[in-house]
Order: sequence, then C-alpha cells, then structure tokens
Amino acid sequence: MQVLNDIPVLDHGFVRLMDFMGGDLAVVQAARVSFGKESTDPERDHKLLDFLLANRHETPFEHSVFKFHIKCPIFVARQWFRHRIASYNEISGRYATMQEEFCLPDHLRTQKTRNYRYDDLAEEDNIELRARMASFYQSAYELYQELLERGVAREHARLVLPLSLYTQFYWTVNARSLMNFLSLRTEEHAQYEIRLYAEAINAIFREKMPWTSEAFGKYILAVQKHGE
Ligand SMILES: Cc1cc2nc3c(=O)[nH]c(=O)nc-3n(C[C@H](O)[C@H](O)[C@H](O)COP(=O)(O)OP(=O)(O)OC[C@H]3O[C@@H](n4cnc5c(N)ncnc54)[C@H](O)[C@@H]3O)c2cc1C
Repeated sequence: MQVLNDIPVLDHGFVRLMDFMGGDLAVVQAARVSFGKESTDPERDHKLLDFLLANRHETPFEHSVFKFHIKCPIFVARQWFRHRIASYNEISGRYATMQEEFCLPDHLRTQKTRNYRYDDLAEEDNIELRARMASFYQSAYELYQELLERGVAREHARLVLPLSLYTQFYWTVNARSLMNFLSLRTEEHAQYEIRLYAEAINAIFREKMPWTSEAFGKYILAVQKHGE
C-alpha cells in the first residue's frame, strides 16, 4: 500500500503527517460502546460506520486524530486558522528569523464579474506582473534583513514581510472536524491555493480511514454538491 506522509504543495510548501491515532475501527468501537459491545465482523463494522455518517452521528469520528505539520503561505494559514475545532502551534516571527520563501503563483488570476469565477490573466501581463512581484518580494526581504542587522527586533522587522511569506504550523485535528475542513476547503468556492492543501490532506485521510472517506464522499460531499 502507498504511504502518503509527505506531500509537496505550491512552490515551497508541504503537508506532512506527523502522527495518527484511531482509524475506521476506532470509530466503530466508539459507536459500539453505547451498546456495551465490541466490534464484530468487518462487514457489519463497515455497515455500522456507513450508517453513522449517513445519519450524521458524528461524535464517534472524534476519536480518530491526525497531527500534521503544514508549511503554507500566510494568506492560506489565515483561512486555515478559521477552523477553530483543532489545535495549532505556529512558528513565531518574534523568535525565529523568517526564511526568504514567498509564494509566487505561476498564473495570476483575474476575477470575472460573478463571485468565485476566475480566469488566467493575459500572458503578457502575467509575465510582467510576476516579475514585479518577485522583485518586490526580494526588496521586502532585503529591508527585513537590513532592519535586523541594524538592531530592530524581529517582532518589528517582520512588519515589512508580505502575506505571500511561508509560515509553518502543527495542526492536530479529529476526523469529524477534518471532514468539516475538507467539505469547505475542497469545494470549488474555496481559494485555489488552500484547495491544493485540502486535496493533500484528503489523500492522507483516504489512506488512513478508507471506509470513513468513502462514506464522507457518499453522504456529505455528494449531498453538498447536489444541494439535497
Ligand atoms: C469559500 C469560503 C469563503 C469564506 N469567506 C469568509 C469571509 O469572507 N470572512 C470570514 O470571516 N470568513 C470566511 N470564511 C470562513 C468561514 O466563515 C468559517 O469560519 C471557516 O470555514 C471555518 O468553518 P467552521 O466554523 O465550520 O469550522 P470550525 O471553526 O472548525 O468549527 C467546526 C464546527 O463547530 C461548530 N462551532 C465552532 N465554533 C462555534 C461557535 N462559536 N458557535 C457555534 N458553533 C460553533 C460549528 O458547527 C462549526 O461548523 C470563508 C470560508 C469559505 C470556505
């Protein structure tokens, strides 16, 4: 079986699974404790798990827990941190000198009139504006370094760094909350960059909890898509 523990995302980022507790059987066991019973045979276990998600009995899924190490641009982290049902610890720009790593999209997008509809920017503009962004990132980082060299504290020097700067954090999340994250962030309205991270998380989720992932697709994602 393929082991997906470390997935590169965007130009400098990654999703890395650090630890995992539980799994499909842990969900079944947690559900059966209500009846004072253990798990029985795999077919019945699988059916029970399916039943739980189909009927939104979601607390048994809280007993499976993922710990990820994430490296992503700050603008992605800001969206990510809105998911409150999880634990976070992030690198601190007060204590660590930030690395010169900025997100530079291959293709800048232009927004169509309707919400959440985008196109690639015209190629000529894309080339020129990406070059200017790269040059701006370089100047920002040079100023950051100069501020540090001239004795400005890290907590003030970082003010000149843009939202495209990469940050890193640990994200510990149970499977129930992870499914909520996936339903919101793999969806087409989510910004493309966080969607790439959500797809990487989804690949790991699928591998670690195949029955749950299948039921999630069937009872939550499909219903969300068709608005039933
Ligand atoms: C496409 C998109 C656009 C967005 N645009 C914006 C925006 O413009 N501005 C903005 O501020 N945010 C925006 N968000 C963020 C969004 O509003 C949520 O904050 C984010 O998706 C986290 O979802 P959540 O609250 O379900 O997750 P979590 O915080 O992980 O919560 C999980 C679940 O726990 C329950 N819960 C958690 N906290 C509470 C609480 N205090 N009270 C009651 N129930 C609670 C809810 O059932 C919730 O669904 C956007 C998100 C998406 C996907």
